[in-house]
Amino acid sequence: MATRRKLKILLATSEAVPFAKTGGLGDVAGSLPQALNAEGAKCAVIMPKYSTIPWEYQEKMEHLGEMYVPLAWRSVYCGVEHLEYDGVDFYFLDNEAYFKRDTIYGHFDDGERFAFFSKAICEAIEFFPELQCDVCMCNDWQTALVPVFLREFYRESDACNNVKCVFTVHNVKFQGQFGDQLLDDILGVGHIPAAADQLRCDERSINFMKGALCYSDLLTTVSPTYAVELQMPFFGEGLDYMFRRRSSILSGILNGIDQNIWNPETDKFIEHHFSVEDMSGKKEAKRALQEECGLWQDENAPLVVMIGRLTNQKGLGLVRYAMDRIMSDGVQMIVLGTGDADQEEAFRYFQDRYPGQMCARITFDNALSHRMYAGGDILLMPSEFEPCGLSQMIAMRYGTLPVVRETGGLKDSVEPYNQFTGEGTGFSFANMNADEMADCLLTACWIYRDNKDAWRELQKHGMTTDFSWDRAAVDYLNLFHSLHPEVIPWNKR
Ligand code: ADP
Repeated sequence: MATRRKLKILLATSEAVPFAKTGGLGDVAGSLPQALNAEGAKCAVIMPKYSTIPWEYQEKMEHLGEMYVPLAWRSVYCGVEHLEYDGVDFYFLDNEAYFKRDTIYGHFDDGERFAFFSKAICEAIEFFPELQCDVCMCNDWQTALVPVFLREFYRESDACNNVKCVFTVHNVKFQGQFGDQLLDDILGVGHIPAAADQLRCDERSINFMKGALCYSDLLTTVSPTYAVELQMPFFGEGLDYMFRRRSSILSGILNGIDQNIWNPETDKFIEHHFSVEDMSGKKEAKRALQEECGLWQDENAPLVVMIGRLTNQKGLGLVRYAMDRIMSDGVQMIVLGTGDADQEEAFRYFQDRYPGQMCARITFDNALSHRMYAGGDILLMPSEFEPCGLSQMIAMRYGTLPVVRETGGLKDSVEPYNQFTGEGTGFSFANMNADEMADCLLTACWIYRDNKDAWRELQKHGMTTDFSWDRAAVDYLNLFHSLHPEVIPWNKR
């Protein structure tokens, strides 16, 4: 019989803001649970207790209990700790041998560490009533074995047998591929042909993400366009055939941004505030940014900013190729990021070549990123692929118009300028071609200089578009409810 109650969701993740973050997954796991709870769900988060979690949080954790996790022939200790943060219950799984390290990934035994974490999640659901759930939302390869273990080892468990698994792909580049000796030695599924077959990706290797794609009840990714792209060989990183095979249960939901942190009216990292009604502060912010970065203080020079990891994914080859053409147009540019050594070196070179016009800040600096979103005119993001992308949404909040390549979340969040209707929130181009990118960027610069009214309208559209998590939370919750027709949504009539 159907009952009206809050749907219980357990979000399993290897990182969550403010405890641990290396990328977009950390932001999602830090923001989505609150938004789901606001929409009438009961969402908790489970993650490893890394020794790198700031002490201010570790010292407040309460010890719930411990358990021994079966991992093939081993039985491994696991402590369970709890901390309520911003109204959300966070559970931390503790094993110092695995998680007392100076970085959260990049160790010789990552396969074993996250196989342990995934198995421990299943045990915790079985033995801790606080962790019982209707839906377990797993994210990326680090938690990809949860659906495999739940189905293979916990089918008889009352607490686990009705748990539905949703697997979310944040970046298909990282799949968790390891030698197949793990099947027997760690996962303990070597003797189960269905599991071993579905995890295997070639003769000698297994692939955690492939396991989740086979065993999950629903698959999601972080933008509708990326959900389509994952099914193509160019983007699918060898798993495109799996995404095509499971396309009927695959959907894309665009991430949100924290609109309280990213707000030009209240941003605590910027000196000159502004709003869609009064943009005068943005002028001041631009002047201050030019001064800080050693650029000519020219109000009319379009100021292009780039903020992000300096890796091939971000389409930096196009920018390097077109740099002389862009600079010869009198455009100014500031690049903030760290990444591959050759990319960092290239932007340092351009800074030397174009003093007063180009600035490269090869560092991670959150406060400076806020000042750049506020003070820039244009954000350039010509990514080769971009599952969702946050920078373009943040930029639009600050009236900084994005110039993007039409891929993944960039395509879904930036509406290109239509010169006939004046509609749009930015500019976009289709191909990985440096001249096409430069044409698009220089067109934007031309409109910035010569058509102030059109520019103002585009800024207005971008600044008033809803990029909050509320919209994403509603979409996720509708999906989760489709797996549990016996639960009537808490807040629906
Ligand atoms: P990805 O997840 O692929 O790295 P996103 O655009 O989704 O790219 O998210 C990147 C986030 O990290 C943005 O909020 C951006 O402002 C921030 N960021 C990236 N590099 C830097 C940096 N060097 N300094 C400050 N913030 C950065």
